[in-house]
Amino acid sequence: METELEAAFAGTITQGMEIVAKSEKLEAKFIRESVEKGEIVIMTRKGYGSLGIGKGLSTKINANIGTSPIVVDPIEEVEKAKVAEKFGAHTISDLSMGGNIDAIRKSIFTATSLPITTVPIYQAVAEYQSLHKVSYRNLINMIEKHTEEGVSSIVIHAGFTLKMLEKLKNQRRIMGMVSKGGSLTAAWMIEHQVENPFLERFDEILKILRRRDIVLSLGNSMRSGCIHDLKDEPQILEIKMNSELAKKANEQGVQVIIEGMGGHVNAAEIWKYVKYHKKIIENRPLFVAGPLPIDVAVGYDHIAACVGASIAAGAGADYLCYITPSEHLSLPNIDDVKQGVIAFRIAAHIGDSIKYGISERDLELAKRRRNLDWAGQFHYALYPEKMISLNLQKNEACTMCGTYCAIKTMDKYLG
Ligand code: SF4
Repeated sequence: METELEAAFAGTITQGMEIVAKSEKLEAKFIRESVEKGEIVIMTRKGYGSLGIGKGLSTKINANIGTSPIVVDPIEEVEKAKVAEKFGAHTISDLSMGGNIDAIRKSIFTATSLPITTVPIYQAVAEYQSLHKVSYRNLINMIEKHTEEGVSSIVIHAGFTLKMLEKLKNQRRIMGMVSKGGSLTAAWMIEHQVENPFLERFDEILKILRRRDIVLSLGNSMRSGCIHDLKDEPQILEIKMNSELAKKANEQGVQVIIEGMGGHVNAAEIWKYVKYHKKIIENRPLFVAGPLPIDVAVGYDHIAACVGASIAAGAGADYLCYITPSEHLSLPNIDDVKQGVIAFRIAAHIGDSIKYGISERDLELAKRRRNLDWAGQFHYALYPEKMISLNLQKNEACTMCGTYCAIKTMDKYLG
């Protein structure tokens, strides 16, 4: 089977490229050329469709769901998947680490048509219950199993070495390493006293991914865990290493997304950091978690992160991982997933208005607002259901100003 990247190299426009071109209202030729350069990836969910992520396309958002070792409610995870899709997530990551993980992943597959991403080391560690018992073979087998089951992408944390962990130890960070996948990988390396397993077996992993054209997502282990932890040497080394790995993967016909910059970043730095990351990774798709521009919004982190993500998307981040109100506090419940997706769908739209200019949709809504045309506004609003629930007076000035409606007053005096 030829991958999207191999087809692009050969000058072929695939069905996936056609689908992405149509949904983004772009030329298929542009999609092929961008796939060839590694600037756009096409995630395919077999039997459902194709999703483009990358430069020149609308910003995409991901919702993380899945059980934890402490909270296991498979039915709720299915509902989270449905809610995430309903409110506008483009992809779902199943990060389950508790219960019957295979069965949970299967039911999430059934509940949604969205592309699914997993982090295979999570399940490997959860099932063996001890880092020491997990072998290279277990990690590789887990990757293979997830790809056979139909995930559209997998995450590995391959961009750091033992030497870089030493450097991390010597940094004056407050939060150290906060990536779960990164910390599990690092702990595994230290337990076994060996190099990064994903780096060591990178070629083997590429062969597995190439076989089914699964997108490789290179994890962001060294991201900052608070806004006082600035961009430092481990972060820079990791993004450079991930960029080199991405080149190698692309040469083998494997499409790559690079996770970077996320976590917690002072708002004043986000724009500059995104530009820096995009340059290092040669415009490959950049996936950013958040970022959170402040640390004190706990309980409302989805709102703070919406601001950070809007700036990041505007600066060129292609793919945003949502943050929910329960960030740093607990496993998100169904409503948290909904709030996180809504906040990030809005962030993506703001980012696109910076990247590509104000949308027709915003213009059309404004025209209807001017005419107090509520039905028209519902049509163009991102979330009409919410709008309907708040607007009690259809076809008239709303209850905010009532008889003193500014629009009606000015209509009377200025026409
Ligand atoms: S009543 Fe006030 S808020 Fe409502 S539509 Fe008129 S001007 Fe806008």
